Amino acid sequence: MLRYRCNQKGCCCRGWDIPFKLDDFIRLYEYLPEADRAELGAGLKLVVDEAAPEESVDLILKSLKLAGVGEDRHCRFVEGDGGCRVHAQHGIPALPDICVNFPAVGFRDEQADVVELYWDPVCPEVVRIFAENESTLTMHSIDAGTSSAPTSIAAQATSPDEMGWHDAGFAQRVANAREPLRAHLGGIALSRAQLLHLRQASVQTLGDRGRATWESLAAVLNGFRSLTIERALSFTPQEPEDLEAFQRYLGACIGAHGAPLLFWSLRKMERLVFAIDLAPLLANPKQLLAALENWGDALDGAYFAHEQSLRPIFSRYLQHRFAMLYVNQEGELREAADTVALIFGTALRYAGALATALERPVDDAVAQAAISAAEYLYRSLQFDAESLPWYASAEGRPPREKAQAPVQP
Ligand code: SF4
Repeated sequence: MLRYRCNQKGCCCRGWDIPFKLDDFIRLYEYLPEADRAELGAGLKLVVDEAAPEESVDLILKSLKLAGVGEDRHCRFVEGDGGCRVHAQHGIPALPDICVNFPAVGFRDEQADVVELYWDPVCPEVVRIFAENESTLTMHSIDAGTSSAPTSIAAQATSPDEMGWHDAGFAQRVANAREPLRAHLGGIALSRAQLLHLRQASVQTLGDRGRATWESLAAVLNGFRSLTIERALSFTPQEPEDLEAFQRYLGACIGAHGAPLLFWSLRKMERLVFAIDLAPLLANPKQLLAALENWGDALDGAYFAHEQSLRPIFSRYLQHRFAMLYVNQEGELREAADTVALIFGTALRYAGALATALERPVDDAVAQAAISAAEYLYRSLQFDAESLPWYASAEGRPPREKAQAPVQP
C-alpha cells in the first residue's frame, strides 16, 4: 500500500450520506468561504443516541450527516470529474477525518507505541495494487522519525513516491488513528510478540505459490483451529488431515448466500468497480444471476481451470487480510480467520459468475471486481452467525446443517 493514491474518481463520495463528527463540521466551516458557510447546514442530519438516565441531557450527538445530492446521493463537494473541491481548494487539513482516512483504518497499540494502517479492499485502488505485480507482500514499517525501520517480516526504503512523513495524508491518517489495536484468542489478549509471530507465519504460508491459494488458506485455518494462547509463539500452519472436510467448508462459504442477495449487493456497489464494466451485466442480469446460482459450474469453468495463473492476486489479497486479521470480529482471531475465509469464498463466487456472464475466464480484472464486491457485502450487511459456516472457530457452534442455511435478502 506504500504506493496507494486515491483515484480521485469520487467513488466513495457518493451513494450514502457521509457521516462527519462535530469537530469535522466546525473545521470545515472555518475553512470554507463565507458563501459556502451559509449552505453548510442545509440538509444536515443529526445522528443521536439516547443518553443514560443519570445524564443531564436526553440525547447525545453521535455524528452529523450531510445529505447526499441527486439520485446518486453524491457529496455536495464532489466535482464533476470526481475530485473533491474541499481538498483541491483548502488541502488535507480542511477535510473531515473520514475523508482523509478512507480507505485506511488506523489502529493504535498504546503499549507498543505503534500505529497500524489497514487498507480496506472494498476500495478499487487497493485491489488494483493486489493485481499490480506478482511479488509476495511484506509488512512495511515507517519509523516515527523520517527513515524506514526494519520489521519482523521485511522492509524496503521509502522513496518520495511512496507513503511516508512527507505525505500529508499519511501523517494525518496516523494522527487520526484512534481504534485500539486488540488481538485475542478466546478472550485472552495476545502479546505483541505473539501477534507478530502469528502474522508472520500466516503471511508467509499464504505467499506460497507452489500450491493452490485455497490449500494455503486450509493450512492457515487449520493452524488457527488448534491454536491456544500458550502455543501462539510456535504457531505453524499445517495442511488439515481431512482436506475434504475443508473443501466442504469452503464450498459452504462460497454458497452461503442466495444469488438475489449477491446480485442486489453488486448493484449497490457498482460505483466502486472500474476494472470491468458492470453496467451491461446489471442491466441485463439473466446470465449473471444464473451463474451466481450455478456457482459450481461457473467456478469449474472460469476459475479452477485457471487457478494457477490467479494465485498472485488471490494470494496477495489473503496475505493483506491475514497481516491484520484483528480488523474483524473485534480482534477474536479464530473468528476473524473464518470471516476472511467467508469473504474469500464469496469473492470466488462473484469471480466465477462475473467471468461466466462475460464469457471469459477469471482474470485479474474480474478478480479485482469480485474481491471488492465480496468485501462490500460483508461490510455493509450483518449476518446471523448461526447461518454461516465456521471452521477454525467451529467448536461450540451450531451443527453444520444449520450453519449452511442460505441467507436471503
Ligand atoms: S468532502 Fe470531499 S472527500 Fe469528503 S465526501 Fe465530500 S467530496 Fe468526498
